Amino acid sequence: MINSLTLTNNTLLGLSVEELEQWAQDEGQHAFRGRQVYDWVYKKGVRDLDEISVLPKEWKHALRKKGVSIGRMRIVEKLEASDKTIKFLLETNDSEYVETVAIPTDKRLTVCVSSQIGCPMGCHFCATGKNGLRRSLQVNEILDQVLTVNEVFGRRSTNVVFMGMGEPLLNLDTVLNSIRCLNTDLGIGQRRITLSTVGVADTMPKLAERALDSLGRVQFTLAVSLHAPNQKLRETLIPSASQYPLKKLLEDCRHYFSITGRRVSFEYILLGQLNDKPEHAKQLVELLSGFQSHVNLIPYNPIEDEDFQRPTMKNMNRFKNYLQTRGIAVSFRSSRGLDQNAACGQLRRRQESIH
Ligand code: SAH
Ligand code: SF4
Repeated sequence: MINSLTLTNNTLLGLSVEELEQWAQDEGQHAFRGRQVYDWVYKKGVRDLDEISVLPKEWKHALRKKGVSIGRMRIVEKLEASDKTIKFLLETNDSEYVETVAIPTDKRLTVCVSSQIGCPMGCHFCATGKNGLRRSLQVNEILDQVLTVNEVFGRRSTNVVFMGMGEPLLNLDTVLNSIRCLNTDLGIGQRRITLSTVGVADTMPKLAERALDSLGRVQFTLAVSLHAPNQKLRETLIPSASQYPLKKLLEDCRHYFSITGRRVSFEYILLGQLNDKPEHAKQLVELLSGFQSHVNLIPYNPIEDEDFQRPTMKNMNRFKNYLQTRGIAVSFRSSRGLDQNAACGQLRRRQESIH
């Protein structure tokens, strides 16, 4: 006898085909009704159970009465930049706001998803961290962001990066569950998924083990937000860094590699005059020696209430060249969508100050 299924918040998005079959049976329906729901929710991307024309009317009525829904969010705002990047503001059932960014190119459609509403880590350069954490997102709310992008662009998202609002490692099980679902149900290969973290003490080995457990193998990329080449400077930018020394963070990165076989990559926001000088590049090379890793350089995007500077093009290139000539693979994250409140968290902040 299979145990009956409990829905999280009465929502269906995030359930596997087997779980939907089980749920349909718990509802006194045939298992194939669950498969129908699965196809319409994931393949056709319907927003409402009422749109599933093949389901019996009485059942849909009964579900509505019980408050069961697919678990989609409402699109509040859609801002399109001149380069076709679209930034979405989505509203949850409990009237919270979530930001998502879609970045299209000819070959790819990348979705930058949020994993939490706000963030408790409070990094000084980040708009999301300014008002603390409201709550973590649920699996339906993470998947909804990708389905919304599919719907608006009329094509399937190819890549997902957890680089929107929130710290994914503070919502570990839900994030792993959504990776499983993105992979199995929305057809996005694990290699096309990146999870970005600023580092949460004692979580990286747990991430490696749980990911192996729940996904079978770990192929997504873990990107670690370093932003500074030494502990002292890092603590001035990232308050949580004082509880998680760089030395331990890098040890955990090695440990992660030993469990999963996947090298982590590193992110480094270049802040003009603060961490973009040759001495910082030199320290970073020393810090990462032996890692054979990839470093993604991100030019700082100005946010309100902070007077960090954008790095000059000259300093950015000097930094990049220093790393490259010492054998480190480097790329720049391009500042797409810069004309539309680009730094993540800004749109939600603006929305909340209006209300
Ligand atoms: N909490 C995770 C993931 C979300 S933040 C993390 O910090 O890694 C996603 C990315 O946006 C991180 O690389 C972060 O450093 C970057 N970011 C935040 N504020 C920024 C800003 N003002 N300019 C440029 N990048 C920023
Ligand atoms: Fe949170 Fe990441 Fe922003 Fe830091 S940079 S406050 S960890 S979302």
